[in-house]
Amino acid sequence: MSLDTAKNALFAKLAGVIRDPRVIEAMRAVPREFFVPSEDHHLAYEDEAMSIGQGQTISQPYIVALMTSALELRQTDKVLEVGTGSGYQAAILARLAGTIITVERLPLLAQEARRRLGDLGLTNADVREAGEVLGFPEKAPYDAIIVTAGAPPKIPQSLLGQLGFGGRMVIPVGGRYEQDLLKVQRTLEGYSTRSLGPCRFVPLIGDEGWEDEVGGALDDLL
Ligand code: SAH
Repeated sequence: MSLDTAKNALFAKLAGVIRDPRVIEAMRAVPREFFVPSEDHHLAYEDEAMSIGQGQTISQPYIVALMTSALELRQTDKVLEVGTGSGYQAAILARLAGTIITVERLPLLAQEARRRLGDLGLTNADVREAGEVLGFPEKAPYDAIIVTAGAPPKIPQSLLGQLGFGGRMVIPVGGRYEQDLLKVQRTLEGYSTRSLGPCRFVPLIGDEGWEDEVGGALDDLL
């Protein structure tokens, strides 16, 4: 099957389940093959997570679409992504919102993602290396926060604090290898959460995440 045929099939499927046409349009405009290792280009439009090296993965397109639409982005929004990985999700966010700050703890992945986003001319996405505090408090508050690594059951307090009033956050929480995808909304009164369904992300590492563990993660996921 050619890449175009696979791409059309994938987007026909996504358009059937994701209601926001802007999300589908943004995803169609970002070449996923650009974000996966060259030997896997032919698989870029399968609806699967794929290895991107360093024990990390690019998320499954369905999950990218689900999370992105749950953020209810406006063109002027300031968005934080935790877990840049390949930069694919950040590229889609960059097409739908105003400013994207995306943080990544592995410097090599951050560097590659920065190059890809630059090559695509997406100048409103700023890739930063993760610091001591989870997220990027320097630019808070955010209209939307998307966490693309799996957090422990307790939603990290530092991310709740970086979400502005009226803000939306999508975050996988639960086990080290299997999580529940939550949508959190912040109002003047507090926070509300609801579940969007089960998902599988590589672990969120750090103080409010999991302990770093060399190897293992990818074998369990794929
Ligand atoms: N959104 C990515 C996929 C993310 S994979 C894409 O579109 O390709 C999850 C990423 O989160 C990994 O690259 C991992 O290194 C990173 N990560 C894990 N813990 C982190 C933390 N505390 N801060 C920032 N990045 C983190």
